[in-house]
Amino acid sequence: MNPAQPPTSDTPDVIVVGGGIGGLSTAFALTREGLRVRVLERAKEFGEVGAGIQIAPNCTRILHEYGLLDEAKSLGVLPANMVMRDALDARELTRLDLADLERHYGFPYMVIHRSDLHGLFLRACRAAGVELLTDRTVTGYEQTAGGALVRLADGSAERAPLVIAADGLRSVARRDLVGDDVVSSDYVAYRAAVPIDAVRANGVAEQDVTVYVGPHCHFVQYALRGGDMFNQVAVFRSPAALAGRDDWGTPDELDELDAAFEATCDPVRKGIPLMWRDRWWQMLDRDPVETWVHGRIALLGDAAHPPLQYMAQGAVMAIEDGWVLAKHAARLPGAGGPDWDAVLAAYQAVRVEHCRRVQRTARAWGELWHLDGERRLRRNAVLREVDPYGYAFTDWVYGPTALFPDEEPAMFEPVPLASARPAEQVTG
Ligand SMILES: Cc1cc2nc3c(=O)[nH]c(=O)nc-3n(C[C@H](O)[C@H](O)[C@H](O)COP(=O)(O)OP(=O)(O)OC[C@H]3O[C@@H](n4cnc5c(N)ncnc54)[C@H](O)[C@@H]3O)c2cc1C
Repeated sequence: MNPAQPPTSDTPDVIVVGGGIGGLSTAFALTREGLRVRVLERAKEFGEVGAGIQIAPNCTRILHEYGLLDEAKSLGVLPANMVMRDALDARELTRLDLADLERHYGFPYMVIHRSDLHGLFLRACRAAGVELLTDRTVTGYEQTAGGALVRLADGSAERAPLVIAADGLRSVARRDLVGDDVVSSDYVAYRAAVPIDAVRANGVAEQDVTVYVGPHCHFVQYALRGGDMFNQVAVFRSPAALAGRDDWGTPDELDELDAAFEATCDPVRKGIPLMWRDRWWQMLDRDPVETWVHGRIALLGDAAHPPLQYMAQGAVMAIEDGWVLAKHAARLPGAGGPDWDAVLAAYQAVRVEHCRRVQRTARAWGELWHLDGERRLRRNAVLREVDPYGYAFTDWVYGPTALFPDEEPAMFEPVPLASARPAEQVTG
């Protein structure tokens, strides 16, 4: 279809609310299956804020299927290793050899600037003929006979056989249909993406993703944009959040950012002055919910399953959601289009449990990263024992995205008893 001539139908097959990575990737996936999709985005322009994003093989596998992986690789970086270090003494705790990981899963682990990944999907949507509308704020949702309707802030309404709410962590649809609230972890993230020359003197490992884990803080570093830029994320427990204040994470806390990393090793401490001081991200998630589908309205991406970021799977899960929906739409024809009720039932049957596992694991992983005192030392001892070439702990997340519940792998393969060390040897 000519991108200069978007579809003119008044009633598309699908309305997607939200043009973030989840909404655009889903719109593209459904359009590839011959569906007419309209995206309604609140912002005046499509775009992404933030810095880098990690995308694991369960995502690059999908990008490959979409014909977008080569372009993604040309925009991003394929790091050599993912290395976890103790933030206080810089000692290595564990690593993944990402070349071997690519061999194991068949697709790479890569890092890319958020706006580059978003731009990739935006161009793909335009080329595929997705109807992309900005400055459209959705304020409410209703079921209709054979579909659903969205109400917009300008007083208008739009309807379609299926409405997908990909409107993010603060989703209006989630508020109306589920009614739960976000959960605060009391942690706040500061980010920075700076020219690589700004960090060369700091002793950074340009070829790796490095995660320094420390008492109530952590620090992530990796190169971006072919190695020309360097991404840093500094996360710490906010004293204001702990004190129950609403305005936590704000620039008033900048002294706290410096204080949180005061005792850390050189490569971390030297990175802190480079952090952007005018933007911050509160680390929030929600408790998992079992029902994402309400009639012909389906939650997707952060609206359905916002995780804490410790597994680096939030955007990846959103992209998987869209891929799964499109696969079932192609597989389940109905009268005059997909059998949407069957498609939505299949979507919910397979995605809810997977995303619940990621959300729960992300919370537990975050707690492990931030341990202090003797528990930190015990953690370090255990992590040093992990086999870097054993994929028992990653198959359930980095393996192929399941389309049916029985394809979802067990979370962890049991570790053979013979290789388990006695507990007393695994202490700090
Ligand atoms: C510090 C940090 C690091 C992260 N790192 C990673 C990582 O390495 N890998 C990874 O996979 N994930 C990562 N994530 C998570 C990831 O950023 C999110 O899970 C992902 O961006 C969610 O995408 P989404 O499209 O569902 O929601 P969003 O990106 O929030 O998009 C929602 C869209 O909906 C629009 N919208 C909202 N309300 C309305 C409305 N009422 N009407 C119309 N439009 C509306 C918004 O303007 C926005 O464009 C990280 C998150 C954080 C905070």
